[in-house]
Amino acid sequence: MIAFSSSYDPSWGATEDQWADAKWQLKNRVNTLADLESRIELTQEERAGVLLAGNKLAMSITPQFFSIIDKNDPNCPIRRQIIPRMEEAWTAPEELADPCGEDSHMPVPGLVHRYPDRVLFLVTDRCASYCRYCTRSRVVSGVGEQKLNMQHEAAFEYLENTPSVRDVLLSGGDPLLLSDNKLEKILSRLAAIPHIQFIRIGSRFPIFCPQRITPELCAMLKKYHPFFLSIHVNHPKELTTEVQEALGRLADAGVVMGNQSVLLKDVNDTVEIQKALVHKLLMCRVRPYYLYQCDLITGSSHLRTSASKGLEIIEGLRGHTTGYAIPQFVIDGPGGGGKIPLNPNYVVNHNSNEITLRNYEGKQFTYPEPSDIPQEIKSELLAT
Ligand SMILES: *Cc1c(COP(=O)(O)O)cnc(C)c1O
Repeated sequence: MIAFSSSYDPSWGATEDQWADAKWQLKNRVNTLADLESRIELTQEERAGVLLAGNKLAMSITPQFFSIIDKNDPNCPIRRQIIPRMEEAWTAPEELADPCGEDSHMPVPGLVHRYPDRVLFLVTDRCASYCRYCTRSRVVSGVGEQKLNMQHEAAFEYLENTPSVRDVLLSGGDPLLLSDNKLEKILSRLAAIPHIQFIRIGSRFPIFCPQRITPELCAMLKKYHPFFLSIHVNHPKELTTEVQEALGRLADAGVVMGNQSVLLKDVNDTVEIQKALVHKLLMCRVRPYYLYQCDLITGSSHLRTSASKGLEIIEGLRGHTTGYAIPQFVIDGPGGGGKIPLNPNYVVNHNSNEITLRNYEGKQFTYPEPSDIPQEIKSELLAT
């Protein structure tokens, strides 16, 4: 049995109706040290981390997400994703402020055009809560050195005048932080561009604040089909009843959903956890899309794993479970290479005559390459 449990925590003094209200969730986010310490006993590493976070990436945690933290476990996988730690203040030599080289690929501020036919459109610089390994921490949350320069009008004009773009991915920050009205203004403007075939949003709102996924929002999104949504879940615990119901509303509205998770040390870096995660996602009608090697963001060394960990996880899934459940493991090429796929090697030997492969059990199989029809057979056949 796969268990989903409710996030509702009466210790917040909220009624169930309040808990179910996105405005209440956002208004009651934990964003100060005092607030945090009144709810959880911090470790020394966390306390220092919270004090230092104010200069880099703000802390903010919705009650929904906070409630799934195990307060008695300093190594809780939810806690490591969202409570700052002092290690964030150390920049390892390989780390970068803009690990994916986005700033140098912006034809218009806020619009990243790296691939031939699709763009990443950053529409806001705020989120419902802040992931400590945020790839855009340089511009997100409003406390870092750099400000996200968003020029929606210039971006729309660029898209209107660039017919090679057929796919627009809205991100930020989190686009679902915008009101339904503001979001619809963006969607309708994009939908009116004839060469744009589909629009998608990257959002962690369904996890941090599933209460935002109202029937009204779903009805609005439905008008913009084909509409895709990439959500971000790292650990099976994040899929609470509230999240499952929100994802159900989106799926019922015909929204095609994929999950992007980030491989994080001591959070989700085992085959067992990943398997539980992908099975739970399928039950929520979400297809695992990408498993990301953690970007070389400044202050992320304590959360990064070796790339071989990701390969080991994919190898532990492929063949062992439903093909639909297996994400593509990728590294976003540091400095602007884009997403590069990594796959376990199943090819044992390959020459012009045959390819020898191993299967998920380690057994070997040989597939002969196609051979030409012998000339004498050809002549015989032609003579008939
Ligand atoms: C991830 C990303 C996309 C979308 O890539 P897909 O593989 O199509 O999901 C587009 N542009 C940028 C800059 C991205 O980082």
